[in-house]
Amino acid sequence: MSEQPKPLPLVISPPRRREKPPRHLADLTLEERQERAAELGLPAFRAKQVSAHYFERLTDDAEQMTDLPAGQRVEIVQGFLPGLMTSLRTMQADRGTTVKTLWKLFDGALVESVLMRYTDRATICISSQAGCAMACPFCATGQGGLQRNMSTAEIVHQVVVGARAMARGEVAGGPGRLSNVVFMGMGEPLANYKAVIGAVRRLTDPAPHGLGLSARHVTVSTVGLVPRIKQLADEGIPVTLALSLHAPDDELRNELVPINTHFSVAETVDAAKEYFDKTGRRVSIEYAMMRDINDQAWRADLLADVLNERGRGWVHVNLIPLNPTPGSKWTASDPADEREFVRRLEAKGISTTVRDTRGDEIDAACGQLAATES
Ligand code: SAH
Repeated sequence: MSEQPKPLPLVISPPRRREKPPRHLADLTLEERQERAAELGLPAFRAKQVSAHYFERLTDDAEQMTDLPAGQRVEIVQGFLPGLMTSLRTMQADRGTTVKTLWKLFDGALVESVLMRYTDRATICISSQAGCAMACPFCATGQGGLQRNMSTAEIVHQVVVGARAMARGEVAGGPGRLSNVVFMGMGEPLANYKAVIGAVRRLTDPAPHGLGLSARHVTVSTVGLVPRIKQLADEGIPVTLALSLHAPDDELRNELVPINTHFSVAETVDAAKEYFDKTGRRVSIEYAMMRDINDQAWRADLLADVLNERGRGWVHVNLIPLNPTPGSKWTASDPADEREFVRRLEAKGISTTVRDTRGDEIDAACGQLAATES
């Protein structure tokens, strides 16, 4: 008997490739932009001209680029500055000094950014992923899982739009300068490491290569991906590291920040200390105060001990009043408990602040607006 040929699969489909965000000038180093110019059939110096429009004049409007040949402007802008996202909605609070934007990315993914103007600075809180895989149970973004990583340009563009709004006097208080960036919107920045480092470089590179922000005014906030913290310390960009600790003991932190089952409190705090040792940048410890969960006086003492064991003066604790998410069983701490928590940390020599909360009424708690929308 002859051998039966194996039946062919009925449908031979190529592996599904997900579409990528458009490639944009902000994804590229200056050298890569010059290569891009060549691809577009343009002289290399056009890359620098368009970079100056985007990063210095904060414009992507072809009409305003009068140093480009009139007949080629639209084409050049399409080649270097393709549309990355559209603003679905902006919401204001705090008399117009807090502005939250809900963005729709090219594939329909939703992310948010929040601009907060203070008397002495203006800070934008940006997203680095659509969704998040870290599953912290008190965080709105954590509930929906990860949709995808954002590209470098998608991350940077949120900042450029914020800087433009400040420069043009569109934020209450008149024209000003965007000075600070915090990666505390949606996503875990160190889980999208390459794109985030690219974004940090674009934000801190001097104009016209980048936005020219001071690295110390850029804060990367993480749940504590230990190997990535070590890698970040070696990049030679002295950004501020914020570690979302939320509990000083493994038992509770395993629940509040599930990645803790992979990297213990001890390993995580060691990595943060190493970051300080290598960069000289004081680390910010984020601690969301949750009533009767992590706000006991004994936990304040334990937190101080865990930090002091590794040295003095290397951390600052930032207590964040919990912004309750819809359906969550947790609420913010009693003010008296919060005061006692601060007192105990300070008594043990830990510099501590309670974060000023902004935009409560516009769902500025991490991920809430996007969660309502989808
Ligand atoms: N994934 C990163 C950055 C995004 S969240 C990180 O976890 O650090 C930025 C900060 O907001 C983190 O400290 C996070 O724990 C905190 N956060 C999340 N949800 C919150 C809520 N409902 N109330 C207060 N802080 C919250």
